[in-house]
Amino acid sequence: MKIVKLKKENLFPFLEVISKDADLWAPVKKNSDRHVFKMIDDLTHINLDYTRTILPPRNIILPPEIRMFRATPLEYEPNFSHVAKRILFGVHPCDIHGLLIMDKFYSFMYDDPYYIESRKNTIILGHSCWPDENCLCKSTNTHIVEEGYDLFFTDLKKNYLVWIGSSRGDDLIRMKPDLFEEEIANEDIQSFIRRREEKDKAFQTEINFTAMPDLMELKYNDPLWDELGTACLACGSCSNVCPTCNCYNVEDKPVLGENCSDISRCWDACTLENYSGVAGGENFREKRSERLKLWYTHKLQAYISKYGKPACVGCGRCVVTCPVDINVLTVGKALDGNGIDSFWSRLSKEVTR
Ligand code: SF4
Ligand code: SF4
Repeated sequence: MKIVKLKKENLFPFLEVISKDADLWAPVKKNSDRHVFKMIDDLTHINLDYTRTILPPRNIILPPEIRMFRATPLEYEPNFSHVAKRILFGVHPCDIHGLLIMDKFYSFMYDDPYYIESRKNTIILGHSCWPDENCLCKSTNTHIVEEGYDLFFTDLKKNYLVWIGSSRGDDLIRMKPDLFEEEIANEDIQSFIRRREEKDKAFQTEINFTAMPDLMELKYNDPLWDELGTACLACGSCSNVCPTCNCYNVEDKPVLGENCSDISRCWDACTLENYSGVAGGENFREKRSERLKLWYTHKLQAYISKYGKPACVGCGRCVVTCPVDINVLTVGKALDGNGIDSFWSRLSKEVTR
């Protein structure tokens, strides 16, 4: 792995050159304090001063709804119109880990062409970040990243140190080599070490993920799930924002006036009631508590036993999104024996006081 240096004023000239033949996506400000990844037509709109975007970058690679193919009585025509040459700039380490989990998931039993094609065409340019009070990535060990990116930019105020993570990344640098310096001064190295130490100390939130698989098993029938189920609104927002959620539904949409159907695929959420519905009207997870348990089994237990790490990358999106404060932090704490700190449990304590 090679590291080079880029002066801050050279960032936009570099992005301009490399985005001539690809769509550039980067974080921009939405309303006063939120950020989203957006296709960039003006580099000055890029805003790197963000902690987390509302939706994770997986939604750019595999959008909420895609048409997979058109089926006629005799054949089917695959559709890959969601695939485009893209450069995704400003991706934080936790979201790169989220994409690594998606990569494994979509190639585990067989390659999912709709994801794989789109991912192959997407260049990932990572960017360093700073934690807020809801970041859990130190606990999931996803606050640093060693793979899954083509280039990774660490902000050292006046300069960037740029990690080259792939031959594609190397090719990008070669498109404008005069913007980069190979010599990295001791001052930059010291500044990098200081930044890393200060960032490590800036984390305010912790959760013991190594204990979670056992606690999920031991507390599988604990009444805490019923209490959480009563509080949950079954809105599905936690799934929409999580960088490692991957449930989807397939719909057959007849094309009016033609003897064919469009088969589309759209994001789904196992926290929604209809998700576990089957033909004949049965539903195997009618209770919200059962659906929440499934969600947290995936995040805190199943993936760890298979891959040795949780399917939570600590981005904090569920923490800032759930309207009733059911999230990986409050559920983790409840499993750890600290009671349920959800909106409704706090409200009922207020009412009975
Ligand atoms: S469970 Fe929550 S914190 Fe973990 S990756 Fe998903 S949204 Fe982020
Ligand atoms: S846990 Fe929260 S965000 Fe998720 S479905 Fe329930 S209410 Fe919605």
